[in-house]
Amino acid sequence: MSGAAIVSGGGRGIGAAICLQLADRFRAIGVIDRDRGPAERVAADLRAAGRISEVRAVDVTDVEGVRDAVDSLVAAMGSLDTVVAAAGNMVGADLEEMSVAAWSSVLDVHLTGSFALVRASLPALRESSNPSVVLISSIAARGIAGHANYGAAKAGIMGLTRSLAREFGPEGIRVNAVAPGFIDTRMTRDGAVQRGLDWKEFAGRAAAASALGRIGQPEEVASVVDFLAGPDSSYMSGQVVYATGGL
Ligand code: NAP
Repeated sequence: MSGAAIVSGGGRGIGAAICLQLADRFRAIGVIDRDRGPAERVAADLRAAGRISEVRAVDVTDVEGVRDAVDSLVAAMGSLDTVVAAAGNMVGADLEEMSVAAWSSVLDVHLTGSFALVRASLPALRESSNPSVVLISSIAARGIAGHANYGAAKAGIMGLTRSLAREFGPEGIRVNAVAPGFIDTRMTRDGAVQRGLDWKEFAGRAAAASALGRIGQPEEVASVVDFLAGPDSSYMSGQVVYATGGL
């Protein structure tokens, strides 16, 4: 087994599932997250499975901090083949009540965070024989009331994906995105609390809206990311793959 990946937001939810899934493919996984504790638990699981794993605790909006984190992870892992930007937040409010701080925070974490991670990873990705970037968009890019900042950020991720695919395609670097639907993570469980809804009711509404009649699990997003990281998607770039259960 060879190769290495870096995953931001790897301490929880979808990012953590991506770390564990990519461990079937890569020898080393670098975990970036704001909060060291959960990320260290994921890294410990990876090491228990025989992988090299290190954590860098950094806020993805800290562009210089992300560069230092990526540089030191690449130095520790020896190479980099796949980078996944899975760090994300949601700060909802109706537009007239939305503070500028809430607006900016969501755009910063998703867009500036992805920009920072990809930019810092490019020198190492250029050395890989199968360099792949995977960004995380959302079904919310189609519109989500009460979360205009999030819907705008996730639509922005689609534009970023297509732009980076064109910019780096000539170098053989593939850039794709996964757009999940409603996935059972802390983010959606917090969403239920914010709406004053019982989790079962909130999740049940999302399940009813989907074609498959159920919500998704983080592992069902991670397997799509893994496909986009691997050689079976070698002719895919600039694509957004929906994993929504038909939402
Ligand atoms: P989650 O369980 O809340 O995990 C998000 C992770 O990102 C947490 O570890 C969080 O750290 C980290 N993070 C947040 N802001 C950060 C920052 N500024 N710097 C570094 N790390 C930061 O959420 P999730 O549902 O797994 O979401 C993962 C990605 O999938 C996000 O991009 C989200 O928008 C996207 N997504 C989720 C769904 C869904 O239904 N869950 C659907 C579509 C897309 P802390 O614990 O410190 O906050």
